[in-house]
Amino acid sequence: MTTLLVKNCSFLVTMDGQRREICDGGLFIRDGFIEKVAATSELPQRADEVLDLTGYIVFPGLVNTHHHFYQTLTRVVPAAQNANLFTWLKTLYPIWARMTPDDIYVSTQTALSELALDLCTTASDHLYLYPNGSRLDDEIAAAGTVGLRLHASRGSMSLGESQGGLPPDSVVEPEDSILMDSERLIQTYHDPKPGAMVRIVLAPCSPFSVTGDLMRQSAELARKYGVHLHTHLAETQDEEVFCQQKFGHRPVGYMESVNWVGKDVWFAHSVYLNAEEIKTFARTGCGVAHCPSSNMRLASGIAPIREYLRSGVNVGVAVDGSASNDGSHMLEEVRQALLLARVRAGVEGASLSSNEEAWIMTARQALEMATLGGAAVLGRTDIGSLEPGKCADLVAIRLDRLDYAGAQHDPVAALVFCAPQKVDFNLVQGKPVVANGQLVRIEQRLLVEQHNRASRRLVGAL
Ligand SMILES: [Zn+2]
Repeated sequence: MTTLLVKNCSFLVTMDGQRREICDGGLFIRDGFIEKVAATSELPQRADEVLDLTGYIVFPGLVNTHHHFYQTLTRVVPAAQNANLFTWLKTLYPIWARMTPDDIYVSTQTALSELALDLCTTASDHLYLYPNGSRLDDEIAAAGTVGLRLHASRGSMSLGESQGGLPPDSVVEPEDSILMDSERLIQTYHDPKPGAMVRIVLAPCSPFSVTGDLMRQSAELARKYGVHLHTHLAETQDEEVFCQQKFGHRPVGYMESVNWVGKDVWFAHSVYLNAEEIKTFARTGCGVAHCPSSNMRLASGIAPIREYLRSGVNVGVAVDGSASNDGSHMLEEVRQALLLARVRAGVEGASLSSNEEAWIMTARQALEMATLGGAAVLGRTDIGSLEPGKCADLVAIRLDRLDYAGAQHDPVAALVFCAPQKVDFNLVQGKPVVANGQLVRIEQRLLVEQHNRASRRLVGAL
């Protein structure tokens, strides 16, 4: 049994049931789980370890609900810089087809290190290409070296160009081997217990890269083991046209037809849903991973996030893959989510003077999406807030930085409205992943060198 006392936090944001924000607060942690959250004076004064966070804002670590770690190898590829989704994919598929297990390993370390410095404590990843002997095991092994919590999605593509799909035939897999590997991964790695560091998710890539059969069978397998389901959905208008032509349904109708609705399902993007489809998500419990930077980068559109929240749909925030966002900064996504919701409100003719709450996303709502919202989307009740019984996943940022000068009267709003900052401390299950702004377990300079070598090999061969 080991104990940790985090004390003297100048401003502690709990995200608990009362949304308490405590001045001079702290936490008492035992074996990685929170035992007490209160003013420092009300906490036990002794512990095996003590962390004094005088001068810091402390809040729950952010939960990233959608990413493709491997894409950190192909940021800003010139031919894909100014393309929409389908062209962007077709440009990058052949490059990704050259990846090796070592590339998956190093890119996972890079993406998770970046996420750790950018306030994330739990990350979901969607790996859907397995070229040259790559396996999801490579990603899971690499994640263990950084220390963030991982929801590893066994993605897949089975509908090649010759069958009417988007990806080239060279990167798709036979469906029986996808399902066998999915079951192996669940049996090997999936941990359903509170505090789990690794969970497995089944995640056929998108309606335009797998068959309906694989969707149905993946759902069946996931439900046999109680693991979650994830895919891209309603990201662009091109996809809507594809679904109508190929399946005779809009994307959400297609998901209903293959048994892909429920509390155990979450979708990336969900930009193009109509009012009826939003009700379907709310009624069945489907979650949404909102990726504002990616949606802007690929000119996909603006997701109706305020409508989702008003309807009771669970929404989390996500950075999406680093080739369609180019950054993995969770706090930046929180800020983009807030700003983009306001753009949509403005375009729809919102009047700020009347019924403001109905239209305007606030800083606290945006932060809540990235913490409690993300936890709900991933189906976790043990993370997302700082309260007794939950995992000690927390981040801290110094408040006396230049970027927050003049904003000390509302530290939560400073976090979201001011320029996105990097973290000073990041603790997962009570263990430091970042301390004093430095990665604890990763030699950053060496990692960047390795990563750039791998990237040059892949992209340079263009
Ligand atoms: Zn994606």
